[in-house]
Amino acid sequence: MCGIIGYTGSQDSVPILLRGLTALEYRGYDSAGLAVLNEYGQIDLVKKKGRIAELQKALTDICVSGHTGIAHTRWATHGQPSDVNSHPHMDISNRFAIVHNGIIENYLMLKQALMNEGVLFRSQTDTEVIVHLIAKFYMGDLKAAVRAALKQLKGSFALLVLCADNPSSIVCAAKDNPLIIGEGEGENFIASDIPALLEHTKKIYRLADAETAEVTPDGIEIFGADGQRIQKAAQLVDWDVNAAKLEGNESFMLKEIREIPAALANTLARYTGKSNPLLTIDKKAFQNIDKIVIVACGTAYHAGLVGKYAIEKLVRLPVQVEIASEFRYGNPIVDARTLCVAISQSGETADTIAAVKEAKARGCVTLAVANVVGSSITYAADYSIPTLAGPEIAVASTKAYNSQLMALYCLCAHIAKVRGTLDKTALRAFYAGLKRLPALAKKLTEGDGGLIKLAASLKNEHSIFFLGRGLDYYVAMESSLKLKEISYIHCEAYAAGELKHGTLALVEEGTAVIVLLTERAIAEKTLNAVSEVKARRARVIAVAPKALDLTGAPIDKIVRIPDCPDLFAPVLSIIPCQKLAYYTARARGFDADKPRNLAKSVTVE
Ligand code: GLU
Repeated sequence: MCGIIGYTGSQDSVPILLRGLTALEYRGYDSAGLAVLNEYGQIDLVKKKGRIAELQKALTDICVSGHTGIAHTRWATHGQPSDVNSHPHMDISNRFAIVHNGIIENYLMLKQALMNEGVLFRSQTDTEVIVHLIAKFYMGDLKAAVRAALKQLKGSFALLVLCADNPSSIVCAAKDNPLIIGEGEGENFIASDIPALLEHTKKIYRLADAETAEVTPDGIEIFGADGQRIQKAAQLVDWDVNAAKLEGNESFMLKEIREIPAALANTLARYTGKSNPLLTIDKKAFQNIDKIVIVACGTAYHAGLVGKYAIEKLVRLPVQVEIASEFRYGNPIVDARTLCVAISQSGETADTIAAVKEAKARGCVTLAVANVVGSSITYAADYSIPTLAGPEIAVASTKAYNSQLMALYCLCAHIAKVRGTLDKTALRAFYAGLKRLPALAKKLTEGDGGLIKLAASLKNEHSIFFLGRGLDYYVAMESSLKLKEISYIHCEAYAAGELKHGTLALVEEGTAVIVLLTERAIAEKTLNAVSEVKARRARVIAVAPKALDLTGAPIDKIVRIPDCPDLFAPVLSIIPCQKLAYYTARARGFDADKPRNLAKSVTVE
């Protein structure tokens, strides 16, 4: 959600800021803007509603350049998308400019107080109060003014501040929102996320909650909440620069689907190799518990459901999966005998981080599963284990989901080993099954598998239903989310046995129903639901393993997936559904990488 980039150095900042914003486009936004300190010591401001291209167009009409600048893509929370509400925001004297990601919860009260003091507001945003507060507290020391302003704020923020009096410095601050500083030579960078920095540096510092920093071309100084200097070790990012580029692919989503086999292999290799992160976790975290609660949002929540199924089956320990935002406010019954597992691709999901903090406060041991190493959730939790999917740029998650499943299977096997519920032979067979998955996934990621044609036949549907039982229900939920979020067709996932308790009323002649049939033991039961929808003349599409005999079943089209142990089928069965979602969005003329209203990294609650 929202992208921030800052630059200070000897180069002209404008092209660097624009490239940085483009690299952060995937986070979702509705307007873009930048502020640059010009050679006369003034701040030039250009901001536009709409795509970055609009900002670029505006910049061709005027001459803006300077060695220090800040830029922003806004995902509006307070005040509709408009030129005026876009960031950066400036104070009345035009000496300060800020960009902000997050929400200032007490902005109304602050705004009223400032207006009573005679301050004029230009926008409807919550953000604008911050720049006026900084201007009010400024007595020649920008860091002190920023710290004083921050003390007034309730809410979350990642913030960059430019001041006309300090021509080559940017002051930044973060609370519950990601901000990283990239160290270059004679130049430094600040951004919301790593992809914006990859082309410049791999040496980064991540601001923790309540920290501020002053960044100049030759220095990065980080301070704690009370202004004391903090020494931090730099973190080296091991992502490949090209990993965040299209490299000839038509879209990031398709590229990322193609990367699923590699993502699965990388994740498995880490959990079966010498540096298996699970071995660094105190065994008591798995022994001294009588339940596990998994907290996550969206796709990660669906991965959590598969994790629950696996752990309950093999460890016989109760697992509850909670939507992170519900968990936080639901007065959860958890304690020191609960292990809380939090799953987040970005590691910056505000709701999931808040859920981890809540679980910790109630005595749980917390374990984060995140794709971005060093992200906020890895600090919030007691332990963290990675998924190694590489950067995921498309808003709709694909390879990160498959990697989350892989990490959860490995976590499940590890808990089973520690608690002695699986013997050596069973464990060996389990890992052997996992090892076959990357090659099997490859069979599904190559080519279109007839899905382009299927997508064309679905593109005008008003509603599509997904059905499944057990694990297949969980995959149905993820498939439904994928299709609706990028194609904008209404989709619903239903547990196959639940359909007749209400939703069957919506099925009529020609309604598309996609049924997942990978759990062989209960496939027959699911076929009852298929017969029920077929009796209402629905059009049935099945996703099933090769070995499942469906002769005579009332199914119009079968999408086959390779055979594998039923427990691991979600890793494979989701792939044709991810591709179908992609091709359907494409057939409807939508940009699958950037679905409307959605952001990749949901950093606000
Ligand atoms: N709350 C701010 C606004 O609506 C910042 C939104 C964002 O994070 O982009 O302008």
